[in-house]
Amino acid sequence: MKTDVAIVGGGPGGTAHALFLAQRGISSVIIEKDGFPRYHIGESLTGECGNCLRDLGLAEDMHRAQHPVKWGVTVYGPEGKNSFWIPVMGRCPEKGLVEASTWQVRRSDFDAMLMNKATEAGATLVQGTASAALRDNGSVRGVQVEMADGGTQDIEAQVVADASGMATFLCNAGVTSEKGRGTYDKQVAIFAQLSGAIRDEGKMQDNTLIFYRLKNHWAWFIPLDGEIVSVGVVVPSSYFLSRKESKHDFLVRELGELNPELKRRLPEFKLTDEVRAISNYSYEIKRYTGKGWLCIGDAHRFIDPVFSFGLYFSMKEAQQAAAHVDAYLGGANRDAENPFAEFQRNSERGMNVIQDALDAFWDHPLAFAFFAHTRYVNDFIDLFAGRVYADSPSRGVQAIQAINEQGRMKAQAAAMS
Ligand SMILES: Cc1cc2nc3c(=O)[nH]c(=O)nc-3n(C[C@H](O)[C@H](O)[C@H](O)COP(=O)(O)OP(=O)(O)OC[C@H]3O[C@@H](n4cnc5c(N)ncnc54)[C@H](O)[C@@H]3O)c2cc1C
Repeated sequence: MKTDVAIVGGGPGGTAHALFLAQRGISSVIIEKDGFPRYHIGESLTGECGNCLRDLGLAEDMHRAQHPVKWGVTVYGPEGKNSFWIPVMGRCPEKGLVEASTWQVRRSDFDAMLMNKATEAGATLVQGTASAALRDNGSVRGVQVEMADGGTQDIEAQVVADASGMATFLCNAGVTSEKGRGTYDKQVAIFAQLSGAIRDEGKMQDNTLIFYRLKNHWAWFIPLDGEIVSVGVVVPSSYFLSRKESKHDFLVRELGELNPELKRRLPEFKLTDEVRAISNYSYEIKRYTGKGWLCIGDAHRFIDPVFSFGLYFSMKEAQQAAAHVDAYLGGANRDAENPFAEFQRNSERGMNVIQDALDAFWDHPLAFAFFAHTRYVNDFIDLFAGRVYADSPSRGVQAIQAINEQGRMKAQAAAMS
């Protein structure tokens, strides 16, 4: 089989890439190992992730499917008393910041909808597991697929886009540089869905709530429909192991103990889904583009779920990559050592802003709170929405970079003395 672009992985990164390519008249083949619908974690979208869906013309479909509308996030401090609110706001050239909303998604429905849209737009779905990269003189020219029936099939492509998520297909195939550990590598997330939660009222009923206990110890609360809420507890792996509890018992106890406000919201709840866990999810691949190939979103880096940026990075990079692939197929950068170097520079810049914000949030919480709620409020609204790709960082981003740098210098000085 031959195609312009072979996309490994039919999650939101892969299907969004197929859809953005189709908008440009570029054909693609999506290789997906799982049958859809299937469970996946990652349910809360940033404001700009909502705009990726609008750019794909899917806003009506999102409303028709009744995905809950998210207007913002409330973060509760350790005693459950202090909280801060981050609204989802858009930016408009004439008016500045404007009220906006995005969505929460049950991934089984959302991913299946995107897959249907991608195939309706002309992408071909190949049900199978990408097992090897076809290589040619330092470039990648396609993918070998193990088909569901046990046979193999080669898919020849001008570009291979890896959107395989945490499976990091091109890394395992030895194409990218090695996978390094991320800063939040020693964490574990334990999560499930439940009914019986107390939500906010009116149009705020479907917002995300975050409950903070200690550094790297927090919980999420993400409404998935009128009844069901996704809940998860994220803690250092060492703490989870020290408790010697099953995932189920750990989650249920933490939901009652982690934060008084979380406890208040779960007076009598019923778990409606199995309790799942993911550990050591933070990693980074430094070189993730090259001749005839590139990686999108989780396929090259995942930082941490606390600010709900995973889906946005995958879908935004899918959009940005489509423009670079279009130019490449049109002849641009054909002889360059790395035709997708500019895509990599830009996507890295966005992820680095969020890494900086996370580091400051955990390591310098007081300074972070002052910057976010008093000093650089609008810059932080932009940051949380996902407007993180500017050539020069905003003053708010510069402030968190400076505070992180001071922290690093202090730590170095302490280590040397
Ligand atoms: C605990 C936790 C909570 C999270 N919460 C949020 C959140 O609230 N909001 C948010 O935006 N993000 C969240 N995320 C991140 C989010 O889950 C991911 O960033 C997102 O799913 C990435 O999308 P993707 O399309 O790149 O990859 P995936 O959604 O992982 O899709 C990859 C697809 O590739 C397929 N695949 C893999 N290998 C192969 C292969 N060799 N051949 C064929 N197919 C293959 C898989 O079956 C899968 O369908 C969270 C992550 C974690 C760990």
